[in-house]
Amino acid sequence: SDFASLPLSPALLQGVAALGYERMTPIQAQGLPAILDGRDLIAQAPTGSGKTAAFGLGLLQRLDPGLGRTQALVLCPTRELADQVGRQLRKLAYAIANLKVSVLCGGMPLGPQLASLEHAPHIVVGTPGRIQELLRKQALRLDGVSVLVLDEADRMLDMGFEEPIREIVGKTPRTRQSLLFSATFPEPIRALAAKMLRDPVEVTV
Ligand code: AMP
Repeated sequence: SDFASLPLSPALLQGVAALGYERMTPIQAQGLPAILDGRDLIAQAPTGSGKTAAFGLGLLQRLDPGLGRTQALVLCPTRELADQVGRQLRKLAYAIANLKVSVLCGGMPLGPQLASLEHAPHIVVGTPGRIQELLRKQALRLDGVSVLVLDEADRMLDMGFEEPIREIVGKTPRTRQSLLFSATFPEPIRALAAKMLRDPVEVTV
């Protein structure tokens, strides 16, 4: 079905059109109504399913560009995925003025990342280790986060990121919306979801 049937702002519908998306993919058709309704979500959705636009449109619709604080946090397993997510969010948001997206990953020098945080970005995309480090340096504040996304959560746990994820999530408000995407649902993912999500909608594609 059609993106125009959703409660998306005209600017976001422009972003969708600019990317050439005409019809929703199954994860978008099944997940976006609940996401836009503010519900927590747990989704079994592999790479290539269109999951980035599903959570991206949700968080972009929710945030207020007039508020100069970090309102959305997306945690990814790798720098490559974080870069890809950051690029897609910027494309979807091209018609929203003055929206700042920062991609913060390990293996990159800290100096420019610290500088990029002097004015809080609206959206932070990053890997758990580096986000944890920036939190500990008090360079990053997450108390204004209203949407938290765990992307490829199973890979993050496989890479040993459970402890940093728990520390990071603990710095976000309990009232946040949480969206968890994973290709598989082994027991550790279920346990993490049980701790982090409130009455989630479940989607499998
Ligand atoms: P993802 O699963 O988020 O990595 O997306 C896989 C690819 O599908 C990306 O290149 C997206 O730009 C593209 N894509 C996402 N949603 C749609 C859509 N509704 N129509 C066409 N392409 C899409």
